[in-house]
Amino acid sequence: MKVRFENVSMKYDGNDRTILDDMSFDIQDHSLVSILGPSGCGKSTTLMLISGLLMPTDGKIFFGDTDVTKKDANARKVGMVFQNYALYPHLSVIDNIMFPLKMAGVNKKKRKERALELAELVQISEHLNKKPGQLSGGQQQRVAIARALSKEPSILLMDEPLSNLDAKLRKGMREEIRRIQKETGVTTVFVTHDQEEALSISDKVMVLNEGLIQQHSGPQALYDRPDNIFVAQFLGSPEISTFDFDDLKAGFDSSLRDRLQSKDVKLIGIRPESFTQVYGESGLITGVVDRIEIVGKERTVRLKLDNEQIVDITDVDINFTEGDKVSFTTNFDAMHFFDGYGNRVVIKDAE
Ligand code: ADP
Repeated sequence: MKVRFENVSMKYDGNDRTILDDMSFDIQDHSLVSILGPSGCGKSTTLMLISGLLMPTDGKIFFGDTDVTKKDANARKVGMVFQNYALYPHLSVIDNIMFPLKMAGVNKKKRKERALELAELVQISEHLNKKPGQLSGGQQQRVAIARALSKEPSILLMDEPLSNLDAKLRKGMREEIRRIQKETGVTTVFVTHDQEEALSISDKVMVLNEGLIQQHSGPQALYDRPDNIFVAQFLGSPEISTFDFDDLKAGFDSSLRDRLQSKDVKLIGIRPESFTQVYGESGLITGVVDRIEIVGKERTVRLKLDNEQIVDITDVDINFTEGDKVSFTTNFDAMHFFDGYGNRVVIKDAE
């Protein structure tokens, strides 16, 4: 099911603060979209508005061509999966999966058939007669997904579904969610604060900050072409370094300098993996190696520039030690340009 928000705003009752401000977006049918952003930015509120468990203060919500703004969650036929599984502890796995169908008055034979099919889909068939308490966290989440899919929802909504799982299981389960979503084709909206999770499984990622959409695009575009400084800094670890244009301009040839100046470029972002070392002090940045951190195969060089700015650099050969003065440069394509408002400025290489 396609979902559209038209100028949706949200304030909670009795609270004057605007949580979501004039939000508009489209979610394509059969796609998996993640809502990503820091804690408190409005991710769950957005999900609840899609579900119909919350009503917007302003604006309209469409499922396909139907205006569902005033319809509740039941009428919208959404399926939901939460962080804490919310399974019925006294019911077996199969009864948990069948429960929504029982409530909907589906006959026993049909609901069993459907539950078995779903148990197969989420690979929980071996545990049908167990109670939730006898299952691991990952298995419980599989049951919760099967239950949410039982009534063939118009859309599947997942709020931090993997937060209670340990790191290794999270990785496996996120791939499972992607597989299940692809096999069923159900339009899915997935809330997370974990960038790796969002980038690895989504067709599109919506980055939110303080109730505003910062960027809504394919995962690679978020990393390669961030629309603003917030997105550039939110994605990637170690964080992208940002430099004042004035601090770097001496390293540019005059034509590039003029072009950047004419487009009002104020900040330049360079990702840690985009630097290459140059000999002497002829690079774009030169500083003292403050720290070399080696964790497994990851090597991070922490460089301290003359102006005290710290720059993290990865993916370089380490032929220096802490305290050495080292110089680095980058190429034009690896530089992200932003204006004084922090918005991306597009500069063509050969303009
Ligand atoms: P996220 O999911 O991104 O962490 P939420 O959507 O849960 O963010 O919350 C966004 C903002 O709305 C937060 O500042 C939160 O305190 C506020 N908020 C959430 N629920 C309520 C509520 N029921 N009443 C008032 N404010 C709320």
